[in-house]
Order: sequence, then structure tokens, then C-alpha cells
Amino acid sequence: MKIHEYQAKEILRNFGVSVPRGIPAFTVQEAVEAAQKLGGPVWVVKAQIHAGGRGKGGGVKLAKSVDQVKELAGQMLGMQLVTHQTGPEGQKVRRLYIEEGADIQKEYYVSLLTDRATQTVAFIASSEGGMDIEEVAHSTPEKIITEYINPLIGLTDAQARKIAAGIGLPEASMAQAIDMFQKLYKCYMDTDATLVEINPLNRDSQNRLIALDAKFNFDDNALFRHPEIVALRDLDEEDPAEVEASKYDLAYISLDGNIGCLVNGAGLAMATMDTIKLFGGEPANFLDVGGGATPEKVTEAFKIMLKNPKVKAILVNIFGGIMKCDTIATGVITACKAVNLSVPLVVRMKGTNEDLGKKMLAESGLPIIPADTMAEAAQKVVAAAK
Ligand code: ADP
Ligand code: MG
Repeated sequence: MKIHEYQAKEILRNFGVSVPRGIPAFTVQEAVEAAQKLGGPVWVVKAQIHAGGRGKGGGVKLAKSVDQVKELAGQMLGMQLVTHQTGPEGQKVRRLYIEEGADIQKEYYVSLLTDRATQTVAFIASSEGGMDIEEVAHSTPEKIITEYINPLIGLTDAQARKIAAGIGLPEASMAQAIDMFQKLYKCYMDTDATLVEINPLNRDSQNRLIALDAKFNFDDNALFRHPEIVALRDLDEEDPAEVEASKYDLAYISLDGNIGCLVNGAGLAMATMDTIKLFGGEPANFLDVGGGATPEKVTEAFKIMLKNPKVKAILVNIFGGIMKCDTIATGVITACKAVNLSVPLVVRMKGTNEDLGKKMLAESGLPIIPADTMAEAAQKVVAAAK
């Protein structure tokens, strides 16, 4: 789960990490009031969307008067903000953050994330803040340093000092850097985050450090113990199909292609998408209906796929293990009848009660295209989508 910058900064503030003063605003009037309350001379008007690169896209602007805040707020609210992370259609701006303007001397990059290879939390930092970190990693990888944190010990003073020195922070900022990095680690652990990214971390002319941007991703599997974080969820920022799917406990991710996929098991779902691509098709979604898919769940899954106007054919690929093929066949038949299936449907089934499942599909009277192997299924669905 993701949250907005202003929400992320509120969390950082609670953990004692220094951030600029700021007030969120949902209307131009609120933006003006926020600016008055904060006081000048310089404000920054920041569009709140769940995507980075807002600065370059025109979603972060400096204002030198309350009138200018008003003007910028009027321009930004309701605009479709396009950044390299939103896709070409952009994301509609519904919230703003009015923040005091910072005295910027030098911008750095710091982040924490879960590193699967070492099974630890990695602290990543760079002297090159404020810009696209992927670009820094690509062109000047030597400017990125990584420190792995022992979960039993936490981020030590020595490690924090090494990171701070490694990105070129001056001695005058050292004590604050060590303290801040350790607080960021505590914040990461306590909130069950999978990413905390501060880009940029600013050093001002007094060598004080302050987080000018903040991004958090949280582990969805841990949200049950963080109702305060769940309360920050903004459904406007999420894909409607994915929100709908999450209500039925379906793991669904929207993609750009035209072949809907309904699969049980995440690994098989990935392999199915690969096979579709191998035969020249493009999946419209990733969908894992899980091991305990009921006919109701399968019906909802069909409804969600068919709501996507781009879908020209559907591939159901099921391995009957714990779930029996005849159960899935019942689900598919019920779902097809309930949704008035309007596109070709290819079904491949393997495993427990396979013969019974296939017989039920064949006798259902529905125009289902059967397939035996993954390759055959993928070829048939790619042809059907054309
Ligand atoms: P994004 O990463 O989405 O582009 P940021 O919050 O990082 O958005 O803002 C982009 C740039 O705007 C920062 O690198 C920084 O130079 C400037 N900026 C952001 N917040 C402030 C602030 N409060 N005061 C001064 N400059 C800011
Ligand atoms: Mg940023």
C-alpha cells in the first residue's frame, strides 16, 4: 500500500525525523488558508499523487506570495499530472500540500528497503539527491552506497556514520545524520514498511538536514496490525479493477494487453503470461484466484476482466491440486452464464478430476475452446484475440 507525501511526512514527524512545516489542502480556499497559517516568505505548492517525478511534470512549484499560492493551487487542482511514473494518461490531482520553502544547499538521497538477496533491510544512499535514482544507478553506480542492517543489532552508529561520510555529508551534519538514519530505520521497522525513500534529503546553509520528499510502501500482509496506516489509504489513487478485486481477495493487477487471464497460483499465473507473450499475445491482467476459489470468486473474477473494454479473449489456466477441476468447471460455467460471456474463452485444466471437469465444460453448451498444454492454450487464445 502507498500513501501521499503529506501523510508520509506526518509519520516521519512522529518518529522525530525533521520535515518542513506543511498543511494539506483539498480546495483553493484551503490552500490560501494554509499559506496564511504557515507564513512566508516562500511556499511550495505540491500536488499529491501516488507517483514520483512530480517536480519535472509541473506538480511542485515555488510561490513567493499568498496570491501566487492561490494561482498555482487553482492550476494544479484537477489537472492530469503526467510523470514518468503515471503513464501517458497521468493522474488527476485532488489534493495539495502547501509547505514552507526550504533553504537548499545540497540534496542527497536515502532510502530503506527489504533486500531479498541478503534477507535484510538495505540502507541505500547517494550524494546525488533530487533526481531520478534509477538514472544515477544507471550512469554513475559508484555514487550509490548500500549498507545491510543486521536485524538483531539494528543500524549501528558506525554504519550510520559510514553512510553519512560516504555521501559526503560534512562533519557539522554528522550527529544529526546518525540520529536521523537510525530514526528512519526504526520508522521502517515499526510501520512494517517495504520502502521508505527520502529524495531529496536536504542540507541547508546551517548544515541542518531535513526531508523534502517522502515516499512509503507498506507490506499489505502486515496491514492488519496497522489500522492507523490503513486509514490513510486513498482509493482514488488505485486502479478501480484492483480495488474491486481486493474486495474478493483476488490477486489482480491490470496490464495493457487484450488477453484476460484467470489462473490459480501466482507462479502459474506468471508462467501463463510468459507463454501468452511467447506466442505474440499481450496479457490484459495478472490474476491469481488462489487455492480456495469458489464459484462466486470465479464469477467476480470474470466480471472484473470483462469490465475491461480492451479484453478480446480470456484464458483460464487451472491446475487442480487441492482445488478439483470439476469445482473449477462449475465455477467457470456458473460465471459464464452469469456474465453473458461475450469474448472467446480458452480453458486448460490439469490435475485432480480433470476428465470430469473437461466433460462438464464440453456438455455445458458454452462455446468454450478446450486446450491440453500451456502452449496450445496460449496459441489458441492469441489466435482468438486477433
Ligand atoms: P518529486 O520527487 O515527485 O518530483 P519532490 O518533493 O522531490 O517531488 O520535489 C521536487 C523538487 O522540488 C525537490 O528535489 C526540491 O528541489 C524541490 N522541493 C520540494 N519541496 C521543497 C520545499 N519544501 N522547499 C524547497 N524546495 C522543495
Ligand atoms: Mg522526490
